[in-house]
Amino acid sequence: MSDCIFCKIAEGTIPSKKVYEDEKVLAFHDINPVAPVHVLVIPKKHITSLATMEKEDQGLIGHIFGVIHNLAEELKLQKGYRVVNNCGEEGGQTVAHLHFHLLGGRSFAWPPG
Ligand code: C5P
Repeated sequence: MSDCIFCKIAEGTIPSKKVYEDEKVLAFHDINPVAPVHVLVIPKKHITSLATMEKEDQGLIGHIFGVIHNLAEELKLQKGYRVVNNCGEEGGQTVAHLHFHLLGGRSFAWPPG
């Protein structure tokens, strides 16, 4: 999508601090980190949210979780980490391109705010 900031990051027209890339997925450091490790993992394909994904995207999302697993090891999050997807307005989603937050390096509270 031409006006989607994460599509532009995926294309490379807006720079990002990449931590992983393959033909389907990009991972980069969040511009406004809320934890010592705060990486966003996105599909390069524009999917607005989990609520609007198509059945055909399930394999891609499974692949994203494999990437998250590998990144957590590489980033030495052996003490634990949190994976977050904010979906839609009440879920707190602010960027309308599917993304998963990989958060680590500190303890997290529950329930979330
Ligand atoms: O889940 P939510 O949609 O709120 O998260 C969007 C995330 O994208 C935020 O954590 C924000 O800091 C990040 N962001 C970014 N680079 C941008 C725009 C937003 O890392 N250019």
